[in-house]
Amino acid sequence: MALNFLRNLAWYPPAETQIPWGVILSACRRKPKSFKQALCSYMNVNHCVLGQSARALLFKLIAALKQYGVEKQRTEVLIPGYTCYSVAAAVAKAGLTITVYDLDPKTLQPDLDSLEKAISTKTLAIVTQHLFGRISPMDELKQMARANGSYLIEDAAQSLGRVKNGMPPGTFGDFGLLSFGRGKPLPVGNGGALVSKNYPAILNTIRWENAGKGYDDLFLCVAVKIMSKPVFYWLPEMLPLGLGKTVFDPGFSVNNISSLAERIAADAITVLDDFNSHRRRIADIYTQLLNQNWQIKGDEYAISAVRYPVMLPFQNLPLTLKKLGLRRMYPYAIGAEKAIKSYMHPNTQPSPGAIEISKRLFTVPTHMGIDDKMAAQISLAIQASASRRSYK
Ligand SMILES: *Cc1c(COP(=O)(O)O)cnc(C)c1O
Repeated sequence: MALNFLRNLAWYPPAETQIPWGVILSACRRKPKSFKQALCSYMNVNHCVLGQSARALLFKLIAALKQYGVEKQRTEVLIPGYTCYSVAAAVAKAGLTITVYDLDPKTLQPDLDSLEKAISTKTLAIVTQHLFGRISPMDELKQMARANGSYLIEDAAQSLGRVKNGMPPGTFGDFGLLSFGRGKPLPVGNGGALVSKNYPAILNTIRWENAGKGYDDLFLCVAVKIMSKPVFYWLPEMLPLGLGKTVFDPGFSVNNISSLAERIAADAITVLDDFNSHRRRIADIYTQLLNQNWQIKGDEYAISAVRYPVMLPFQNLPLTLKKLGLRRMYPYAIGAEKAIKSYMHPNTQPSPGAIEISKRLFTVPTHMGIDDKMAAQISLAIQASASRRSYK
């Protein structure tokens, strides 16, 4: 009886929340190690800039490209039709026009025909992404960007820890963007990085006016760690904290990474590979147990860097699955979000693939709080929920 009660109370978070205590404590105690150095060596690059968030860095980058980069008539940034709203917010904040290209709902990869049509002589930069650690076709994208004289920015916020042909995503294009925010491969509160092999001079133009001490980042790491134990996690979910809410806000703050977040990250990066091999193993279980029709095709080496993506045959997530850590990703395609409309090019093409993704994509948790047995139970629960609904 008591056990049943506890089991009903159990809520699982959707993504990693467990930065080890040792890492958090040593960040408070010891003198800082250089996260910048550790990250550069992990990414195998010579140059990187840290910041408070990926969006702050993307904003700074786009503003710099606009100012120093190519000719002034390039006023558009081409972004995926389904992506994190922060990417659109960074473009809007930099005063440029958002245009989108469509994605293939079977693979979540860029629809290259749509991209080809969307590129113009006004395209300052193309942003591509490696959602869930699934790497975009970088050779084709590089060629298209180069032929048009546009920069290629890789949004690698979800792919830290992957390697393809000996190279980490974020280092294939002209610029690579990383995030260390909530729900990312290495979540340390707030933080981001920008890397570039080819344009260190542009990275060097990025300057910050402010950086916090980061007591809020430290508090967030500890609070999230404690509150996301399955017996407590219903509580933050019930409170109106806006957890996991995606809002488009070009008014975000633009600061350096805090010193505490940087110190936590410097140690946490040593456990990233453990996190990722766990995610990989749990993802393999889902790949074996879940209906083939729901799975995303291609890139069989994808470690599900943050969560495991599936396309499910319903739009509203049943509570039983929500409690097991399943979630929707971004609520709408970029072109279907009303708040973004006024920043978009009026003739931007429709993105039916992105709209389908926005309706059917769900994520299944792969973090350290999910063991093999739990992954099998979650798979069964998904099958059971889906079989109760008619498949369209
Ligand atoms: C989280 C995320 C971002 C934004 O990162 P912040 O550090 O929160 O600004 C951008 N793109 C993708 C794909 C993301 O998942």
